[in-house]
Amino acid sequence: MTEEIKAYCMKCKAERTIQGVQIVMTKNGRPAANGTCPVCGTKMFKFLPSSYKSQATPAPAAEAPAAAAPVASEPAPVAESAPVSEPPAA
Ligand SMILES: [Zn+2]
Repeated sequence: MTEEIKAYCMKCKAERTIQGVQIVMTKNGRPAANGTCPVCGTKMFKFLPSSYKSQATPAPAAEAPAAAAPVASEPAPVAESAPVSEPPAA
């Protein structure tokens, strides 16, 4: 369950309860709250004490389907000299 986490909104210049708060793990291994300001809709972010670790969404693992994260990669050109290594049909 999500809980109310307050953070300072840079735009409102006031403390707001983060809307749609999501507890995530940062690269530093620290939990943080992600969400938006309920008043102006500005994105909000706040580091949380390590006691929130257990609530944090684990970092996307390799096994997790990345359906909602389109990778902005260039389309790989089909090289005509690509090595085809098919196993022998024995
Ligand atoms: Zn705001």
